[in-house]
Amino acid sequence: MGSDISAISSCPGCGAVLPEVDGPTHRYIGASPACWALYTALGGGGDPPLALSPWNALLVDGYAAQHPGRPSPQSIQSVAIHLLVLHGVFVAGVAPAQVMWLRRRVLRERLEARRAAFVWLDPPDFAGSLTVADIARPPTPQARAAMVEPYLRGVWERWSAPHAATVAAWYDRYVVPD
Ligand SMILES: [Zn+2]
Repeated sequence: MGSDISAISSCPGCGAVLPEVDGPTHRYIGASPACWALYTALGGGGDPPLALSPWNALLVDGYAAQHPGRPSPQSIQSVAIHLLVLHGVFVAGVAPAQVMWLRRRVLRERLEARRAAFVWLDPPDFAGSLTVADIARPPTPQARAAMVEPYLRGVWERWSAPHAATVAAWYDRYVVPD
């Protein structure tokens, strides 16, 4: 062990306290460089990788929703779309394997129409919620993959407490009708 004491910082989105890394962040997803590096490593296969699971395809939805960033046209659209996916799976009973269908349903609407409909929702407090650090902590692919669903549920529960009705109304408007 060296004598260095790594600086630590907490992620502005999920609150994960991690050793600081000097790295990139996403343009509008509000994550610390350390948290973003963990997420991109998981999405890129991980070391070890996540065991195959239909829930893995929703990691992006949970992560983007847990890191809403600051109000901007992009962040408003991003958070809304990812919350609609989480609502679809956890409230409307869509199978996780159908997540691509859900995204297509939302995105078929013209951007101008969605811009007019979606608004910034005050993000919940994610203190104490599971983070990608919890997914990356277990040593085996199976144990890591088993963390994804509880992670997603945790993110959705925080959002749905104050905003369930709003997201349900968006879902009825943008996902369900033909
Ligand atoms: Zn984070």
